[in-house]
Amino acid sequence: MTPEMMESGFHVHFMPSYLTIWAGTDRARYISEVIQAFVMMMKRLAGWALLNAVRQNGHVVLLPNVHECDLNGQTDAPYYVSGTSIGAPIIAPWGARTVNIQFSPSISCATVDIGIKVKRKTAMDYPVFEDDERLVHEFLHAARILAGTARSAEKIDADKNSTIYRRYETKEEFYATLVANIYTSEKGKTVLRQSYVGYTNAMSEQEMDSDRFLNSDKAIVPLIEKFCNERPTGLGLSIANSPAKFNPIRAYYLKKAEADRVLKEKATAPGR
Ligand SMILES: [Zn+2]
Repeated sequence: MTPEMMESGFHVHFMPSYLTIWAGTDRARYISEVIQAFVMMMKRLAGWALLNAVRQNGHVVLLPNVHECDLNGQTDAPYYVSGTSIGAPIIAPWGARTVNIQFSPSISCATVDIGIKVKRKTAMDYPVFEDDERLVHEFLHAARILAGTARSAEKIDADKNSTIYRRYETKEEFYATLVANIYTSEKGKTVLRQSYVGYTNAMSEQEMDSDRFLNSDKAIVPLIEKFCNERPTGLGLSIANSPAKFNPIRAYYLKKAEADRVLKEKATAPGR
């Protein structure tokens, strides 16, 4: 995989002029490490579904996150945060809708000396925090921003004291966390992220049951239903296709099919 192939095949771009702002860093290494995470994404259906959705609706520019190595002085935080934003400041030569993803591979950042003597945790210490898993989270945001369906500030319709609200707060973070969990499960991992807000928490074994997850709060099925019916069209179906053990989107479709069958059976039952 080369940057040229990423551009032509997937509409994913590096902006060389922007890479220079990352002082003291080997640009070539940055690019090769990002490509490594990108190729991991390509190997899984859930990752592929996102790449396809992005390509259909616009472009993504990948930028190193210059602030990540000192997350507001929080020494217990992972030093490799990432984020997604609408790419307004960049006048892209391709003239299409563009989303910026600020993303730095953890290996690059681990070598940056920020002058704080703490035992740094690695991506492995957190659920769904390996490079490709973080990239999936950001690509989900990007796909929905490009399709025009993301409303970043929209809160989950639930009581502010409810578990689901406290774990995710916004709908977009619920979706990004959910899809990154499905992707991570497709990789065969069994440590999944329980919460967007508390990033260190892992799901219990019970919570990793897709049906149980669907039924754990009455806000969840409507959220997933909305996700599946909204643009980018077909994203819900493609992710349902992922053979991940944890796949509440697939569970949603199966549940819906069963409910439709029962309804139809009732309607055609004799004696009515
Ligand atoms: Zn997010």
